[in-house]
Amino acid sequence: MRKDRLIGGALIAALIILVAVGLWKTADTRQDDRIGVQQTYRGVMGTDCTLAAVVTGDSQRPLAEKALGEAADSLREVEARMSSWLDASEISRLNRSPAGVKVPLSPQTLDVLRSALDAYEQTGGAFDVTCRPLIELWREAGKRGTPPDEEQLRQARAQSNWDLIELQEDGAVKHADTARVDLGGIAKGYAIDAAVELMGRERFHGGLVNLGGDLRCFGKPPAGERWSVDIRNPNGAKLLAQLQLPGGAVCTSGNYERFNEIGGRRYSHIIDPRSGNPVDKIVSVTVVAPTAMTADIWATALSVLGPAGMDRLPDGVEAMMLDAAGSETRRHESPGFGGFIKNAGR
Ligand code: AMP
Ligand code: MG
Repeated sequence: MRKDRLIGGALIAALIILVAVGLWKTADTRQDDRIGVQQTYRGVMGTDCTLAAVVTGDSQRPLAEKALGEAADSLREVEARMSSWLDASEISRLNRSPAGVKVPLSPQTLDVLRSALDAYEQTGGAFDVTCRPLIELWREAGKRGTPPDEEQLRQARAQSNWDLIELQEDGAVKHADTARVDLGGIAKGYAIDAAVELMGRERFHGGLVNLGGDLRCFGKPPAGERWSVDIRNPNGAKLLAQLQLPGGAVCTSGNYERFNEIGGRRYSHIIDPRSGNPVDKIVSVTVVAPTAMTADIWATALSVLGPAGMDRLPDGVEAMMLDAAGSETRRHESPGFGGFIKNAGR
């Protein structure tokens, strides 16, 4: 059974949600000699990144610092390979390539593209990395100040199609010059998972990779048994939810941070591939999943699918969603989401 909840209309404007991890409230609290070693990097995949490792005593600090530095490097490596905003990335090369020419791709990039194709199937087409032509169409509309016309929309929809991109063992071939992909809805999650694997989960009591509010944690925090993750509204004192996790990933998609403004109206950066239009109504989606890539995929997909998409969630994946219904914001939760809530700010 899904839980629906109404939140007062006045809150809508203020519903800017950020994720804060509560662990460093406890950073100085030693328990069983556990200490948290933390590093923050600016400008990683367009945001800031905090990495942390929990070790036994100060003598292990250098081990943690080395692992965190390597994990941070791996995040930048994923960005360099997969960003559609960097001309030299593999994805930009693929997007520029003419039809019929094989573009060699690294195993990492192919891995993400294959996962994106699986996600396309699993989400009934809501998660579609081939919708880059539509994303560019709406971005240009934003610059111009007028929405695209019917014909432009029709063309961009026709160009956004998995049939136009063929994945091969060590590369990809496009079947139309105009076919282009955008990994903005999945690469962060992939990068977080890769960074966690690189840190080596078995080497530490616990650890965390937090990339601009999308995060994955494992093992134990410096104090206590579970990680505490606040989903908060920075404009108000109230928390949207306070989560407690034994490990796993939390990703949030929303209209509040990144959007496109056309003629005074805000448009989401997430496109509904079925209509070609930016999604509206869904204010934010927070997903808890075993891996960050899964959480990242579903946060974007549920922004498209809305509350009805909750029924499609795979086992072990839980979500909370806010959608704007008239002057009210409605909160929906998948059946198991409540199990992560320690103390919802209601
Ligand atoms: P996220 O913040 O994870 O929800 O990702 C949003 C980004 O994913 C957008 O900025 C686009 O780059 C890309 N994107 C937009 N719409 C879709 C979609 N329907 N499926 C997959 N990726 C999308
Ligand atoms: Mg996403």
